[in-house]
Amino acid sequence: MNAFLSSANREEAWTTLEEKVLSCTRCELSASRKRVVFGQGNRNSRLVLIGEGPGAEEDEQGIAFVGKAGRLLTQILASVGIEREDIFIMNIVKCRPPGNRVPSPDEMMACSPFLEAQLALLRPELVVCLGNTPTRWLLRTSEGITALRGRWFQWRGISLLPMFHPSYLLRNESRKKGSPKELTWRDINSVKEKLDSLNKEIRQSPGPEGEKTDA
Ligand code: SF4
Repeated sequence: MNAFLSSANREEAWTTLEEKVLSCTRCELSASRKRVVFGQGNRNSRLVLIGEGPGAEEDEQGIAFVGKAGRLLTQILASVGIEREDIFIMNIVKCRPPGNRVPSPDEMMACSPFLEAQLALLRPELVVCLGNTPTRWLLRTSEGITALRGRWFQWRGISLLPMFHPSYLLRNESRKKGSPKELTWRDINSVKEKLDSLNKEIRQSPGPEGEKTDA
């Protein structure tokens, strides 16, 4: 449906969706949350990052990836010249699971219409899944992130790359070859390469005005 929406209609649909999510009580996470974390960034970006769910700081502020892991994510992106405000960042579930536990399948199922609607309106060309939860949820797999990271998948016509979650990197300080940090460095370079080649392709073939801008 989204392919046929004008920018004005898309804007309106986004606002309606956000209002709906901010007052959502579809699952039990609504009872313990302080703030709903809808996601934020450049809605015209070709690249969207998807994490698992808000942590304590995100719950306080209502913004995705602002805690320690979020600051590391910002650095990882900046290391290859991607500014986080130029891309869109969100989570599978919009409310904090108590104690930062993994969201249950029921909670993810309850929240998934919102994620689907966001993706339909954002229309990303590249998606990066941060950690096991979004990777398994979107790819419908039980395989772990260690086996899947660094591999590009085609998912509904979108190029999707699983990467380690930054909170995992905080627990694994080594930068040696083959360490999670070094592998993440390779992965983010792969994302940057893909984004650059996409931007180049699109610059070379004139498309409709006012659509995507460089992320
Ligand atoms: S996690 Fe999602 S489904 Fe559950 S209450 Fe929050 S917004 Fe609603």
